[in-house]
Amino acid sequence: MPHIEHTQSEWVSAVVQAVHGVLPSRDFIPLHEPEFAGNEWQYVKECLDTGWVSSVGKYVDRFEQALAEYTGSPYAVVTVNGTAALHMALLLAGVGRDDEVLVPALSFVATANAVSYLGAVPHFVDSDSRTLGVDPQALRLYLERIADYRHGQLINSLTGRRIAALVPMHVFGHPADLQGLLQLAQDFGLPLVEDAAESLGSRYQQRHTGTFGLLGALSFNGNKVMTTGGGGAILTADPVLAARAKHLTTTAKLPHAWAFQHDEVAWNYRMPNLNAALGCAQLERLPDMLQRKRALAACYQAALADVEGVRLLTEPADCHSNYWLNAIMLTSPQRELRDALLQALNAAGLMSRPAWTLLNQLPMYQHCPAAPLPQAQRIEDALINIPSSPALLAAGG
Ligand SMILES: *Cc1c(COP(=O)(O)O)cnc(C)c1O
Repeated sequence: MPHIEHTQSEWVSAVVQAVHGVLPSRDFIPLHEPEFAGNEWQYVKECLDTGWVSSVGKYVDRFEQALAEYTGSPYAVVTVNGTAALHMALLLAGVGRDDEVLVPALSFVATANAVSYLGAVPHFVDSDSRTLGVDPQALRLYLERIADYRHGQLINSLTGRRIAALVPMHVFGHPADLQGLLQLAQDFGLPLVEDAAESLGSRYQQRHTGTFGLLGALSFNGNKVMTTGGGGAILTADPVLAARAKHLTTTAKLPHAWAFQHDEVAWNYRMPNLNAALGCAQLERLPDMLQRKRALAACYQAALADVEGVRLLTEPADCHSNYWLNAIMLTSPQRELRDALLQALNAAGLMSRPAWTLLNQLPMYQHCPAAPLPQAQRIEDALINIPSSPALLAAGG
């Protein structure tokens, strides 16, 4: 909390000033802007010049190979967006109608929507205030209390439904406690599917996020660390799952020179060549963009070090974060203080946003099962995202 002798408005001004001091002086600074400063124009132009904009062209294969190499995932299958990647990953992990899937309440709505697309039910769980990701200790105690085994399956004894998977999310690029979560998943016989939509470039103990679970999903939406306009990818080490992912995202069409033969109901979730071309160019520049994002985070951390009552959220121990979105945390979470700060930051032209409304509060998910969520609620009351584009440091000097 601020000094007793300071008024709230003096404290708010001090925080705004600290953030402002890091950034270039402009009327308005968005939360996260893409940066196209390499081969983007050239590769996209080539698609336009040759006419290969859609479902045929070399960039899709090239982007998949480059992603596999960058993440260390044996296979990467690109999709139209990250939500589609997560939908397919859950399907491939065996999630089906009337199953429950453990997902963090503190996430973007896509995490729960992908579960719903399969006729399954999201079951919301609490987060850890250090990582912002699913808290494996709290989840273990919760499952021991509410779940039991029937015929070798983990069943929610309150609803009678099977619990079919666990989906951790790496919030704002900070890796969740993957070691704890993997152990938990193993102990309860649950497949782990990572929502790594926000964590391209983030590593946990040297290994890329999204490669720990049976499957992982990435996003290349316009606001993420790199973009394809819209796009996503499924990561897996399993060649059978990778082949199924390709098949299911390409209308289950059997390869043939001219015949239309499809062997199951499937999806048109393939990433167009145009988007993959953009992705190839963006990925070439990702290390450079991430380096500047880290430098920006270090500047914020230094600027906020002397301001009481707030701190910058930093990467968990043993982790290398992509610092997708920098987050200020109030040391004593308080909704009113958070909103006063959000108001002042936005009024100063520094685009800032709260965390997502907890998913169990949204109308379509209010009736879904949920664990007690004390930490997620505290995080929601404490957190503010501040401008985080890679170009901010280069432009600001
Ligand atoms: C961005 C994001 C997704 C996927 O989003 P798309 O816009 O469909 O690419 C999924 N989960 C989380 C947590 C995200 O932030």
